[in-house]
Amino acid sequence: MRRPFWLDREGNCNEYKPIISDIFSLYLSGQGQHNILNFIKDKYPDASFLEKTNASTVMGWISKESAIGMWRGNKVYEAAIDEDTYYLAQDIRENRKHKNVRSNSEWPLSGLIKCKGCGCSMNIQESYNKKNKRYSLPVLRCSLTQRVGKRSPKCTSKGTFPLVVAHYFYFEYSRRIILERLTKSELNKERLQQESLLNRQLSKLKSKLDNYQAVIEEEEEAGNTKAARHAIKYTLAIEDEIEDIQNKLQALSQESRVESAGLILPDLIESTEEPKRFNVAMHQQQLFAFLDGNRLYFNKEQSFEYQGFESEN
Ligand SMILES: [Zn+2]
Repeated sequence: MRRPFWLDREGNCNEYKPIISDIFSLYLSGQGQHNILNFIKDKYPDASFLEKTNASTVMGWISKESAIGMWRGNKVYEAAIDEDTYYLAQDIRENRKHKNVRSNSEWPLSGLIKCKGCGCSMNIQESYNKKNKRYSLPVLRCSLTQRVGKRSPKCTSKGTFPLVVAHYFYFEYSRRIILERLTKSELNKERLQQESLLNRQLSKLKSKLDNYQAVIEEEEEAGNTKAARHAIKYTLAIEDEIEDIQNKLQALSQESRVESAGLILPDLIESTEEPKRFNVAMHQQQLFAFLDGNRLYFNKEQSFEYQGFESEN
């Protein structure tokens, strides 16, 4: 049996664990195998095995028992995925095989809100009222509750929660924080790319320098002072280039420390207006909100309580 890419020889998770974990969360958010593959290829350019991967292989990974550490029914490996997530993915896969389930992915908040108590994603549901001949306002419902058919004692979400309130939480109440977070990650990504380019140039120059130094020694031993001096001239120029690159690297690392707070890239404001792009970006940032009773929050500072509303008459 071929070892799954996220496990090392000892059966522990290796550095690719975030990839399999992203695959599951994208799948639960309603993304198909092609989108998932494109997304992870983009996010993990250094994982070279992805280049030869077909979209259908993604579905193979999702169904693999080894994701939760099992092999032929026995716990053998370190689990990369928690069991709730894994079995939820299997349910979705089974459902999709048999009937055409309406994909959730057109919702910008799909898969982003979790039931605090059980940790499962809140599904988005719309129900059709035959009498009124219209859809109800969409609501969030814990996927564990939905799967088991009744509320688990672990769940902290109540039966349903209005999706519009979650919308308000993300797009009004937390808008600024989200945009700042996206900006930071965008700048960081650019910086990492520049850094890796400079580091590659640096290592090329260093090996060039080594070569010249070997030449100088040889020529000096052979008594060819003229040739040795010629080579020395080259090494001086290379040393200058190396210094230049090292200065640039240092400047980059300083820049990352004085990241200007509150900066927002205008291009990202647009991204919040495209549901799919927004959804993928939020998954990438792991910006999940939790639902605890009527309280929706990212953290202590960014927390919002829905009080419901009463009608006057
Ligand atoms: Zn729950």
